[in-house]
Amino acid sequence: MPLSLPTYRELAQRWKNLRDSHDVRVREVACVGAPRTLLCAEFGDAALPAIHLSGGVHGDEPAGVLALLRLVESGMLDRAFSYRIWPCTNPTGFDARTRVNADGVDINRTFGRGGTSPEASAVIMSNRDRKFVLAVDLHEDDQAGGPYCYEYGDRAIGERIVPECLRPDPIEEAELLGGLSLSLLMRRGAADDAITLETPAHATLDERVDMHVRMVQAAIASLR
Ligand SMILES: [Zn+2]
Repeated sequence: MPLSLPTYRELAQRWKNLRDSHDVRVREVACVGAPRTLLCAEFGDAALPAIHLSGGVHGDEPAGVLALLRLVESGMLDRAFSYRIWPCTNPTGFDARTRVNADGVDINRTFGRGGTSPEASAVIMSNRDRKFVLAVDLHEDDQAGGPYCYEYGDRAIGERIVPECLRPDPIEEAELLGGLSLSLLMRRGAADDAITLETPAHATLDERVDMHVRMVQAAIASLR
């Protein structure tokens, strides 16, 4: 049966159900100034090197959201690391199937200056003082012919994840975008390497979720 999209409420319940069955710590982080929360999930031994995973910042790019859920539900994450996972960083956009949030804001341009959207501020406040060996943000691209990634970092692991890897200059990229994306912010100090994964929107949802699952697994395997 093809995958179907849950509502955000259903998605949140699936994550909360993992508390008992998968030993995942799930909480809701307040978005100050907006009537919504973000899910934040922690998984694995906190003494281990930490990996930051996130998806759904653009609400019309759902494959990454479903891939993060599958990676945890199916026990597919390497237990040699610990994880902080933001399962869906744009809840209102996810339900409305829009790129922007309910305020009409592209959240992935608001990670500068401590966060200039409620969602970005929630992530930044919660991540304060945390360090990660890798940050991966999951997206989709309706212009792309196939999966690809952007890599911000010196480790050069992108090509081991997917053959097509772009390496934008972070300063030029921030100017081009007119603000900081989550990956750009993570690369500024919180993470040794930041990767943005993209899947082609012309593929089926099942195919795109599979692509994201495989790319995230390859990214983590490249750290070994
Ligand atoms: Zn996107």
